[in-house]
Amino acid sequence: MAGTLVRLEGVSRHYGPLRALDRVDLSIRAGEWLAVMGPSGSGKSTLVNLLGALDQPTAGRVVVDGVEITALPEAGRVRFRREKVGIIFQQFHLFPYLTALENVMVAQHYHSVADAGEARRALERVDLADRAQHLPSQLSGGEQQRVCVARALINQPKLILADEPTGNLDADNEDRVLRLLRELHAEGHTLVTVTHAPGIGNLADRRVELHHGRLADLTVHDEEIERRYDEVLVQVWALLEDGRLPEARRVKVPDVVDNERTLQGMEESGLVTRPGTTLELTGRGRERARDLVRRRRLAEVLFTSALHLPRAEVELAACRMEHIIDPEVTNSICGFLGHPRHCPHGRPIPVGDCCELPIIS
Ligand code: ADP
Repeated sequence: MAGTLVRLEGVSRHYGPLRALDRVDLSIRAGEWLAVMGPSGSGKSTLVNLLGALDQPTAGRVVVDGVEITALPEAGRVRFRREKVGIIFQQFHLFPYLTALENVMVAQHYHSVADAGEARRALERVDLADRAQHLPSQLSGGEQQRVCVARALINQPKLILADEPTGNLDADNEDRVLRLLRELHAEGHTLVTVTHAPGIGNLADRRVELHHGRLADLTVHDEEIERRYDEVLVQVWALLEDGRLPEARRVKVPDVVDNERTLQGMEESGLVTRPGTTLELTGRGRERARDLVRRRRLAEVLFTSALHLPRAEVELAACRMEHIIDPEVTNSICGFLGHPRHCPHGRPIPVGDCCELPIIS
């Protein structure tokens, strides 16, 4: 397939009777960010080690950038690691007797000629210019992890592998590392991140899940994408309703940093168009947004009036964001509530097939 950077064909890794990976087929597009999720012991690290040519499968082939790395002799695999992949581990694997700068330069040395200026720029990129001369033992865990990121970046690898890159980090360092990963993704690197954290998984273009060494199906991913589309549609609807211009930068999908990809996907799915910096709903987009808003606002009415929930419990923005009723029962609930025209916050509820047309006097 054109644009494929990584291909796994029937890849297994067995340890005696234990199947750490079991007949895995997987393609990763160039420039894609793939998140590998799954419980502890499901085979995630095994997969990353195989992608980085750090380990050999018991069966199957791994092809990266047109080269079957599983057929290479050890020397070829070493060269592949130096030239094509950057690996960020949860354990830092830094040389304890070398400074941060030297640790970065070692990686560079393997690839080409060590260049202190370039290594320093890589450290600047991870906000560690002022720690260049420190030994790993003089750096915090988060700082050591950022040295690892700088080291992984120095050779401009096509494929970046990160095994729990934010595993033991505090919130601030986690943010920094995630920001770097997002930048790398935006620059066109292909990323494979292993993570337990759903928040990180959501940043990726695609998530796959391992269970006992087998890849689980990816339907969760499609649902997640549709959820993001729904959020954008409702926000655009609300902006239009308030007489504001639905500018792309005003739209914010919860838990997602890279809105651009969501918007691109929505454009490709024919839900929005993007003349300039604003978003416009297509007929289909408007229909779907309208339906979502209707179902959310009806849910609000249901909560406040029928279930007698005190108003204070219904947040101000909830009619735009929170609850939703099932499409199957929307019209019956609308009827049950007497076809309300407004939600408890006074916002209009789009009429449905079940609602009588307003009487024009
Ligand atoms: P994860 O990264 O999802 O936690 P791993 O890929 O590390 O899982 O491990 C998958 C399975 O393979 C586990 O049951 C683990 O104990 C086993 N395993 C991993 N490496 C080895 C090894 N070198 N020898 C024997 N068993 C191993």
